[in-house]
Amino acid sequence: MDLPRIFTIRESAHRIHNPLSTAKLAALGESLRLAPGARVLDLASGSGEMLCTWARDLGFTGTGVDISTVFTEQARARAAELGVTDRVEFIHGDAAGYVAKQPADVAACIGATWIGDGFAGTIELLERSLRPGGLLLIGEPYWRLTPPDEETARASHATAIADFLELPDLVGRFQGLGYDVVEMTLSDQDSWDRYVAAQWLTMRRWLDRNPDDDMAAEVREELTTEPARYVRTTREYLGWGVFALMKR
Ligand code: SAH
Repeated sequence: MDLPRIFTIRESAHRIHNPLSTAKLAALGESLRLAPGARVLDLASGSGEMLCTWARDLGFTGTGVDISTVFTEQARARAAELGVTDRVEFIHGDAAGYVAKQPADVAACIGATWIGDGFAGTIELLERSLRPGGLLLIGEPYWRLTPPDEETARASHATAIADFLELPDLVGRFQGLGYDVVEMTLSDQDSWDRYVAAQWLTMRRWLDRNPDDDMAAEVREELTTEPARYVRTTREYLGWGVFALMKR
């Protein structure tokens, strides 16, 4: 049970595995207006930057669950580096179906809503770990501009145009599920670059160090084709945001 290795090659130098910048991640934490000690459950916590920096800056506590051994180790190392090992813990495991023993003030899934077969199922999953009146955080893509055709959608990290909604429709869907959208922090094209363009330098340095690796040809091909694909498609068409929801 682990994340395919190509992801850890591309994103080994990332602390945040989504299109939010460090500043946006900090702003998201502050936007929740919670007191120190607030308990956060983070499903698919990646390298743990959200829990670790929120623990350091805001005094939150929390648990992260992630299927990647590499990212989970990075998360534990980051907690030690930031001096917050008494406030956060990281569990290596499948987050699909994970329910916290103690209800959380905030239950989050930032950029991995496939763990609940989409955002509606992920909201249901998170709800099982949330205290009454708590906040859900969902990180989800939307179409910044709807692609002109299916080929462009497929080149923008979707399988079809129907995979994602435009922002007003996504907000409407959350409301239709019985939630108030009470806050949001959206990526922009610059923060997308921090997520995607940063992968290119990581891949180039990895290639220079690992020319004979089994995955070298695949990484070489990606590094050659990705920048043009990204600026033509994802950067133009795909939006991404974290939405804070409270049950009505
Ligand atoms: N929330 C983190 C990571 C987002 S990237 C951040 O924003 O930085 C998606 C993450 O989902 C990866 O860390 C990957 O390892 C994790 N993941 C994918 N499938 C998973 C599953 N079934 N259970 C737990 N984690 C999963």
